[in-house]
Amino acid sequence: MKSDDPQPPRRGIIFILSAPSGAGKTTIYREALKAIRNLEFSISLTTRARRKNEADGIDYSFVSEEEFNRRQSSGELAEWARVFESSYGTPRAPLDAAIASGHDILLDIDIQGAQQIRAKYPRDAVSIFVLPPTLEELADRLRGRATEDESKIQHRLQKAREEAEAYPEYDYLIVNAEISKSVAQLETIVNAERLKVSRLREFAPWKS
Ligand code: 5GP
Repeated sequence: MKSDDPQPPRRGIIFILSAPSGAGKTTIYREALKAIRNLEFSISLTTRARRKNEADGIDYSFVSEEEFNRRQSSGELAEWARVFESSYGTPRAPLDAAIASGHDILLDIDIQGAQQIRAKYPRDAVSIFVLPPTLEELADRLRGRATEDESKIQHRLQKAREEAEAYPEYDYLIVNAEISKSVAQLETIVNAERLKVSRLREFAPWKS
């Protein structure tokens, strides 16, 4: 089947991607967003400082604590959490629009956020966990990124160990040994989920 063949109408899917930092998740989803049609990225709000390689409104919407609190208390967020002393949250409107219009959306969020999204969108959320093959590799990747000092890296490693324990809560696990294989695995998950009968709106071409 060609990728642009018409598909039966269906609800959109929320794909949640979580991983300990340094597992390679960002590289995987950036590649996947290029390779997979009809998949948008959910731009989170965050109060943390922008990193050099990040753009406001593309990687995150960078906001003040006051702005974050205002948007959170007015009910604009589908989920939110404190991670590494900053606040992070997912705007609700793009999720609801995606589900209603049959478009799929990818969320890069932590395990606390994933729990909230699963609870709010039990039919429409699919969760995927990414782990590095070993914890040593994770430490190497964090140091290689060199955006943080050693005490912050130690803090992230400790959190990574705790987070790794959460993978059984997820629907799928990708062990990221090689980026191209992990992207292909993510693509397989997306394509299979898109074919699920439970997501279809009415489909009965034999009646017309
Ligand atoms: P970083 O600061 O390295 O970009 O992200 C730190 C952690 O926050 C990652 O685990 C990332 O998945 C998570 N995160 C990013 N955006 C959101 C969000 O909107 N909600 C939640 N709960 N976590 C998020």
